[in-house]
Amino acid sequence: MTLKSNRSLLDIDRDHLIHPVTSFRAHEARGATLLQSGKGMWLTDMDGNQLLDAFAGLWCVNVGYGQDSIVEAAAAQMRQLPYATGYFHFGCETTVRLAQKLADLSPEGLDHVYFTLGGSDAVDSAIRYIIHYFNAIGRPSKKQFIALDRGYHGSSTTGAGLTALSNFHRLFDLPHAWQHHIPSPYPYRSELTDDAAIIARSVQQLKDKVAELGADNVAAFFCEPIQGSGGVIVPPKGWLKALRDTCTELDILFVADEVITGFGRTGPLFACEEEGVTPDLMTLAKGLTAGYAPMGALLMSDKVYQGIANGAAPELAIGHGFTYSGHPVSAAVGLEVLRLYTEGGILANGRSVGRRFAAGLNAIADHPLVGDTRGRGLLGAIELVADKDSKARLDSALKIPDRLFAQGYKNGVIFRSFPDNIIGLAPALCASDEEMDEIFARIRKTLDDLL
Ligand code: PMP
Repeated sequence: MTLKSNRSLLDIDRDHLIHPVTSFRAHEARGATLLQSGKGMWLTDMDGNQLLDAFAGLWCVNVGYGQDSIVEAAAAQMRQLPYATGYFHFGCETTVRLAQKLADLSPEGLDHVYFTLGGSDAVDSAIRYIIHYFNAIGRPSKKQFIALDRGYHGSSTTGAGLTALSNFHRLFDLPHAWQHHIPSPYPYRSELTDDAAIIARSVQQLKDKVAELGADNVAAFFCEPIQGSGGVIVPPKGWLKALRDTCTELDILFVADEVITGFGRTGPLFACEEEGVTPDLMTLAKGLTAGYAPMGALLMSDKVYQGIANGAAPELAIGHGFTYSGHPVSAAVGLEVLRLYTEGGILANGRSVGRRFAAGLNAIADHPLVGDTRGRGLLGAIELVADKDSKARLDSALKIPDRLFAQGYKNGVIFRSFPDNIIGLAPALCASDEEMDEIFARIRKTLDDLL
């Protein structure tokens, strides 16, 4: 592809393809181009530039690009049976096997799986099944939902309301009246320095919110074990367990949104695992198919499943489902991706290179622009500030997030550039130590270029 043809393709892209975050801004501000191919950690754009992907696409390509065995699994399934609805009576072996595998690998007791197309509809499905559950067990008033500020739970109207990022709410009268938020623990920006105090405060905030709404009205609390799109906010160890236990005490369901943290992103297969937490429901997507096909999943406990199944009005079918739920090709991809994580050694590699990632984050903390670095496993953030001592934010007029992304691209590294001048990092689990060092060398150069 020549430079010229790339330009004209970009013009066509601008004229016809909507990229919601960037299309409605000046074309120049997009700072990106079209991608042509990928292998391992590397992407090649249509100008032939080689880019190190430090964000695994959109925190999803956990096994890296160009994994032939996944392509073969998808092709074989397409040849044999491309479609079988999971909605009514049918199904197919591949989808059943994936459900079995997820039930086996997930935290104890999450034995029932509903497949979706991605994370947003996994969250929507959780809300709908939870409302069915409480109705079925004769507690229909439990319909209020609580989540965290800075949380991200999807882009459907329901998910966008549970999400607590203001641009998702604007114009839509969101959150819905039944959606509520409590503050994010955000340790770096908290005036509390003691982990136990941060945990105790979140617990109290949840208790206060439930008391305000009435325990008989509250259905569930949703949270990400580590908040991703809100700026990779890592709560103290023990926070997740404390919130989980509080939900049990308050008689509300605890939903872990592991769309980002699932599938080795934080080290173990699921972030809940290393915290000793078993949620009542869990939402998954991204790493489940590692970006090779669209798929999400909602896992639920036997208690919730049986509650719905044996409920007050079993003759009423659940009015919920998607044409492509449990899609055989996505399921074949998911099965092969899971095999790569476990038998293929990718999970183990992720844990090992995760130590190099932590060292990279640590080392870059000395840069004059860096106020905080944080992370777990291969999920991390670098927060830039105007002043390290006061933690003062950089002037928004400097448009740091746009400039950072564009400069990183020029330096051959792709990361997420969040508002509040936070760099989000989520490299694939297949990275080598050398590639990890190269990512941080390119990020350091990018920060130097901004000075
Ligand atoms: N939950 C979380 C925690 C997410 O990070 C995302 C996507 N970034 C979603 C839900 C929504 O997933 P999707 O974009 O696949 O609909």
